[in-house]
Amino acid sequence: MRLIFLGPPGCGKGTQAQRIISDYRIPQISTGDLLRQAVRDKTALGKEAKKFMDRGELVPDEVVVGMVKERLLANDCKGGFLLDGFPRTVAQAEALDRTLQKMKLKLNAVVSIEVPDPEVVKRLAGRRTCPKCQAMYHVIFNPAQNQNVCDKCGSELYQRDDDQEDTIQARLEVYHRQTAPLIEYYQKQGLVKPVTGMGSIDEIYGRIRQALGDRAG
Ligand code: AMP
Repeated sequence: MRLIFLGPPGCGKGTQAQRIISDYRIPQISTGDLLRQAVRDKTALGKEAKKFMDRGELVPDEVVVGMVKERLLANDCKGGFLLDGFPRTVAQAEALDRTLQKMKLKLNAVVSIEVPDPEVVKRLAGRRTCPKCQAMYHVIFNPAQNQNVCDKCGSELYQRDDDQEDTIQARLEVYHRQTAPLIEYYQKQGLVKPVTGMGSIDEIYGRIRQALGDRAG
């Protein structure tokens, strides 16, 4: 299964991706996670990317496209993959199409998770993330059992720099201007499966599985 998860920041892509990858046994390729790792490792790419990320802007296409191309060649992608947060511009989608064509691979579906803007703001402002295993929590809707400690791996949770209110607005604007046009791009290829991103994590997961032609397992 070769999938793309599309949707505004905070729509639940990462949370839902964790369930998909465990049920379908495919790797999750999150460009946001790869970039945050590069920032933590203080690589040249990470230092460059941080400037854009802190402002809520997109990192230049050639940087992320290069990263994804390399990742798709890894052995664990042979049985499929889930792209989370990539592509985010039409140029990235075109580059991905060219890469998959060369590899003689086709996408199965683009799941478009729909959440209204005010809900996005509420979700992101209360979001807490585990720096180690990437598990996500929300101070009200999905709190960790032990306040600031990850239930899964025990690491201390943190609030992402770009989950501050000003940056959230900037990210939403960027989403509507640069990423939302991808829905039409993939509609033309007959790949889009729209899913309502409101409700419980289980409900949304059920809708995604149904959209993919499966029952939730
Ligand atoms: P995310 O975790 O997917 O919300 O991504 C966090 C930030 O990383 C974004 O606001 C961008 O600055 C950057 N980023 C992640 N994925 C991409 C991408 N495909 N293209 C450009 N920038 C990206």
